[in-house]
Amino acid sequence: MADALLQTPIDYLKGVGPNRAALLRSELGIQTYQDLIHLFPNRYIDRTQFYTINGLQKNTSEVQIVGRVTSIREVQQKRGKRLVATFRDASGQMELVWFRGHKWIKAQLKPNVDYVAFGKVNWFNGQFSMPHPELELKSEYDRGLRTAIQPVYPSTEKLGNQGISNRVLIKLMEQLFSQIKVQFEESLSDDILIQNKFISKQDALRNIHFPKSQSLLSKAQFRLKFEELFYIQLQLVHKNLVRKSKIKGFNFERVGPYFNRFYGSHLPFELTNAQKRVIKDIRTDMGSNAQMNRLLQGDVGSGKTIVAFLSMLIAIDNGFQATMMAPTEILANQHYSGLKPLCEAIGLRLALLTGSSKTSERKRIHAQLEDGDLHILVGTHAILEDKVQFNNLGLAIIDEQHRFGVAQRSKLWHKNTTPPHVLVMTATPIPRTLAMSVYGDLDISVIDELPPGRKPVKTVHRFDSNRLKVFRFIKDEITKGRQVYFVYPLIKESQTLDFKDLMDGYESISREFPKPDYQISIVHGQMKAADKAYEMQRFIKGETQIMVATTVIEVGVNIPNASVMVIESAERFGLSQLHQLRGRVGRGAEQSYCILMTSHKLGDDSQTRMQTMVRSTDGFEIAEVDLKLRGPGDIMGTQQSGVLRLKIANIIQDKALLGLARQWAKTLLKEDPNLTLPKNIPIHKTYLKLGKYKNIWNYIS
Ligand code: ADP
Ligand code: MG
Repeated sequence: MADALLQTPIDYLKGVGPNRAALLRSELGIQTYQDLIHLFPNRYIDRTQFYTINGLQKNTSEVQIVGRVTSIREVQQKRGKRLVATFRDASGQMELVWFRGHKWIKAQLKPNVDYVAFGKVNWFNGQFSMPHPELELKSEYDRGLRTAIQPVYPSTEKLGNQGISNRVLIKLMEQLFSQIKVQFEESLSDDILIQNKFISKQDALRNIHFPKSQSLLSKAQFRLKFEELFYIQLQLVHKNLVRKSKIKGFNFERVGPYFNRFYGSHLPFELTNAQKRVIKDIRTDMGSNAQMNRLLQGDVGSGKTIVAFLSMLIAIDNGFQATMMAPTEILANQHYSGLKPLCEAIGLRLALLTGSSKTSERKRIHAQLEDGDLHILVGTHAILEDKVQFNNLGLAIIDEQHRFGVAQRSKLWHKNTTPPHVLVMTATPIPRTLAMSVYGDLDISVIDELPPGRKPVKTVHRFDSNRLKVFRFIKDEITKGRQVYFVYPLIKESQTLDFKDLMDGYESISREFPKPDYQISIVHGQMKAADKAYEMQRFIKGETQIMVATTVIEVGVNIPNASVMVIESAERFGLSQLHQLRGRVGRGAEQSYCILMTSHKLGDDSQTRMQTMVRSTDGFEIAEVDLKLRGPGDIMGTQQSGVLRLKIANIIQDKALLGLARQWAKTLLKEDPNLTLPKNIPIHKTYLKLGKYKNIWNYIS
């Protein structure tokens, strides 16, 4: 298929005038013939069956009936009029009803010819009626390209209202296919086609729109889904290979005195096997001549920080600097104060750079960084500023990846001419399938083991009406010397209301836990950073027993003595957020608790979320449920990814196919890294056309 022809603006298609073209563009993003061809149906309706009017049941849904319009009238109703046509077949009569577009319909409707009426039927006023039916002349219906299995295309309310019904879309598709006489060029290699028994591109595209049979439809879907996933994986795997072969990384050959001294005499605990394994992965990467770009997944509390620190020591042993970036000041502060004694023990210099660093402090840090006096810089986004220049940055660690975008990652890369090694750490367990497609260009390590001696957090779900009991329980815990979090939701859209909830909650907690027996900290987004830090410090030092907060404490904060996490309006949090919050407790030796407070009225999804939290403490299991409930679109960190814009494949349902696609991408690139073998010409051609994979179907044809 000539590319040029496919790039024809949609306005040139017969049946598409300027109005329709504008609508197709704005509502469905369809600009060209190409785009229309890749408007894939959401579902299909079986139209092999015709109904008779007296054979309709009250609970029949979508049906098609052959009949004639015998009369037509307008009926006045409360607001406006409705247009009613009597529709008859040999067995009886029913009504067709329209609430809009009367003039046009009256002009179009022909009496005494056979129509096929298709739509949902209602039982109304003692007879059946069909509102806004799809009507088509029987003669045209018989002539059409389409078959008994009818596609249902994605649509919008506006399209429907403006007369671009599913029928119209089908018509346009027919028009397009009959207007384009050339074959679609094959975009997969014979190897792939034959070994997977895929049908050709031509057959696939034709059958996805006009399925000849159920079996051909399945084959078309199978092939097109594979193709979509395959080209995404091909890009990811290719990027990874290029990075490894072309972008030379610093080669950290040795593990030297800092690492050995620390490991030998200052390690505060025995590492878990998982931690040891990950450190080995990282050492291998950093000593391989290629740039490391690794994602470290580990549930909250699994001990990622010490892994980060040991990795930094390797960089320093090889004469380089290291940096660690956290998404919030609180977290950066905590990393700083956690790492400081470790650094001091072995004579390393460390500094903290955040938005609140004073100018004089900044200047000093900038100078020391450039001189190479500083070994480690911990901080927030402030590190990304252009003014911050390292003498020789060897390793950049990003904690809690989902708060940072890909663009920010690449900014770190450019702090040197040779990019530093990059380690991205996340506590959001991403199911493997998703990780593969979102982070397919990163290598992945997992810490799948918690440090020994941890007691799993006991989780319960309580209704607001049980609050007094909950308070009593908390008093007991505080008497035992424990500390308690109360967390309130804060959602952008309802900020004022949420803020009021938080303040009301704070007041009632203050009443229940009065001074001087109890001291309470409060932290929320509207406070100044310094005040937040002050309140946080009081809680960390144990001066306050209760911390009332919004989700600012969600990420990373580590206070082992805090053993109770009360989550207010828990139904308003997503699963991954609930899991993150729960991870704030259970870090000490004591039994910890998570109490999910909700109202009595809970939707099905909320109920599932609460049950999942009560049942499981396994982050990966929770992430799987989350993925099923919400779909991949909302999972944190995936916003910038092409996964969201998949047109035909589905990351949850097509897991196996994704694995197959990735395998093929790997095998192919291993055998033919530059796609130069003659047999791979179709793939190479397609690949060259690939821009960003968000619009992958614009290029696969
Ligand atoms: P996260 O992976 O959530 O960042 P941290 O690195 O903050 O977890 O570790 C959580 C807590 O567990 C810290 O107090 C840390 O000192 C402790 N810890 C980490 N690894 C071990 C280990 N192998 N044995 C005992 N405690 C550990
Ligand atoms: Mg952490």
